Amino acid sequence: MNVADMDDLAARLNAAGGRAVDDPRQADLVMVNTCTVRAKAEEKAYSFFGELKHLRRADGSRPLLVGMGCVVNKQREELAKRFKHLDLWLDFSDPDGVLAALRQAFAPLSELDLDAEFTPALDTGLSPLRFVTAIRGCNHGCAYCVVPRARGPQRDVPLKRIIAEAQALERAGAPDLAVLGQNILAYGTTSGDRRRRFIELMETLLAETGFRWITYLTSLPGDLTEEICERIVAHPRITPLLHLPLQSGSDRVLADMRRGYDMNHYRRIVAYARQCRPDLYLTTDLLVGFPTETEADFRATLLAAEEIGFDDAFMFAYSERPGTPAARKYGDPLPRAEKLDRLHELIARQREWGKLRNHRFIGQRLAVIVEHVDGAVAVARTSFNKPVHLPAAGLKAGEYALTEITSAKVSSFAGNAVP
Ligand code: SAH
Repeated sequence: MNVADMDDLAARLNAAGGRAVDDPRQADLVMVNTCTVRAKAEEKAYSFFGELKHLRRADGSRPLLVGMGCVVNKQREELAKRFKHLDLWLDFSDPDGVLAALRQAFAPLSELDLDAEFTPALDTGLSPLRFVTAIRGCNHGCAYCVVPRARGPQRDVPLKRIIAEAQALERAGAPDLAVLGQNILAYGTTSGDRRRRFIELMETLLAETGFRWITYLTSLPGDLTEEICERIVAHPRITPLLHLPLQSGSDRVLADMRRGYDMNHYRRIVAYARQCRPDLYLTTDLLVGFPTETEADFRATLLAAEEIGFDDAFMFAYSERPGTPAARKYGDPLPRAEKLDRLHELIARQREWGKLRNHRFIGQRLAVIVEHVDGAVAVARTSFNKPVHLPAAGLKAGEYALTEITSAKVSSFAGNAVP
């Protein structure tokens, strides 16, 4: 989500005549986006803000320093007091507002036409553009999660605007598209039957754009229905990637987390999705050490992960987020060492399971999009977003290629070029 926000901002600044540089000492404007989903991310933001104090350009002047994102949305006053060397603090929940505030604060921008019709440039100096945000904020209210507080309630981007942005990306040459929302399946909650609205969003994108691959992220398991599996998950131009965060394998912990589904639903809907889409690539998020998680609950998560068979997983230890329902109700009773032991055990086991599952790709021919060419090696990604390292000869960034997978780890593959 943050990557998408920064790509979008970079594209707009780029279109207005700006240029990204690698070294902040060459920049006129330094914008720092922040994440607050776990305490560690927030600490990183503080230390980075601290480092900026000494940033100077070659002529000794300071670039304009802007802090923004979730940490700022939550505690702007505190930050402004603690890091006085930053010039501007921006709430990123309204991207149009960010541009207006920037134009006021940053003289060179006031001359640029930021309202000119948005034509994204793919080469912004950041990652190749492919994201469209469909939902900002979140209404779900998982007990542990700070997102609703940091990003605000769910706001659906109007369908028309999503389509226009997707078409602009396509015209600019983006090879594929990813549509984003904290729970993308809840698109359109504001009017009518939300499950149908997600289907309508995806079917409109399929009809109004020519992308060969469209990905949707992230899906809350309780909102995944058989109809969505049949019409969207199984669609040939929708990628096989299904990111379906399970969080815990214990029904009691899932209820305490206020996730809104149980293991039975999860099992059933994954089986159905796999039946509709045999090449499904299933990834998940797992969160260990939730305040009410016992050793037995943790074992249930291990069993569930093995039983379901995730191709990849993002795994986290519980981090108490002030202001969340779980922080108010339970605090953070488990010792850090205990949480980390559980996390490390889960990561080690999941890595083994994931590696075995990913071996199925060895010898397979997969279409990939080339991301970077660096000397003799190219990095490409599969439709399910797995990096593939392959020989660069004849390959160009941004294009589709065919590769035969020669080795597969969980986090990346290696392949040969197939002419
Ligand atoms: N709606 C997004 C959530 C983004 S946060 C999604 O479903 O992907 C990504 C992951 O961070 C969550 O799925 C959860 O596993 C983890 N997470 C969220 N809050 C956390 C917390 N307080 N401590 C540890 N991990 C957390």
